Amino acid sequence: MARTHLIAGNWKMHLSPAEGRELVTSIASGLGGTTAEILVCPTALGIADAIAAAAGSKVQVGAQNCHWEVKGAFTGELSAELIQSAGCSHVLLGHSERRQFFHETDETVSQRLKAVLRAGLVPVLCIGETLSERESGQLETVLRQQITGALAGIDAAQLTQLVVAYEPVWAIGTGVVASTEQAQEAHAFVRSVLAGVLGDLANDLRILYGGSVKPGNAAELLAQPDIDGALVGGASLKAEDFLGIIAAA
Ligand code: PEP
Repeated sequence: MARTHLIAGNWKMHLSPAEGRELVTSIASGLGGTTAEILVCPTALGIADAIAAAAGSKVQVGAQNCHWEVKGAFTGELSAELIQSAGCSHVLLGHSERRQFFHETDETVSQRLKAVLRAGLVPVLCIGETLSERESGQLETVLRQQITGALAGIDAAQLTQLVVAYEPVWAIGTGVVASTEQAQEAHAFVRSVLAGVLGDLANDLRILYGGSVKPGNAAELLAQPDIDGALVGGASLKAEDFLGIIAAA
């Protein structure tokens, strides 16, 4: 089955609601006839404005994380149900910044993933190795552990919409992009691990590449057989750059 490219922007802790609204308006008006699916993930405060600005366009809006409980005494958190009720379609999970700065583990990522599925949203599961893990030959072990840890106890039938984002930690926000060969090789490996867990469904699932994707390197990355889109940080904050990546898809 042909996999439609997904180009997703992770705005992290950037842009006020008004700035986000302006950015979504510019993106929506510059999409042309793209066949790619488009997603932006603003801060929690920016979600409502982004959704209002995206109305009637191809732009979908997602959250950057969620809690696993439906509700309760969890100060500062958002449940998948709250995110769904705000009008979001996707949730990023297990981003390396969450793992690094907020002590996310494969176990908590898995709990969040189950919550996203419970709420009927699309999970974007982020995985990736650090430079020292790559250099010490642990790339495959780390990726396999992150995938199997997150998917543990979840039926393939529930994961038909799953999106995986392979983001080598050493390429995020550094300006250092993985070579197309490194990226394709890692994506093929990720797909093989997904096939081991989910069978044939792995051929239908999208695996995005993330890590310093820019308009200048997007076309070559997106032309690789197992790269089905991009998760973009820095270059998603400017309409011109994000649209340049979308045009390459
Ligand atoms: C990211 O944060 O997911 C990311 C890929 O960032 P950047 O594009 O800035 O490297």
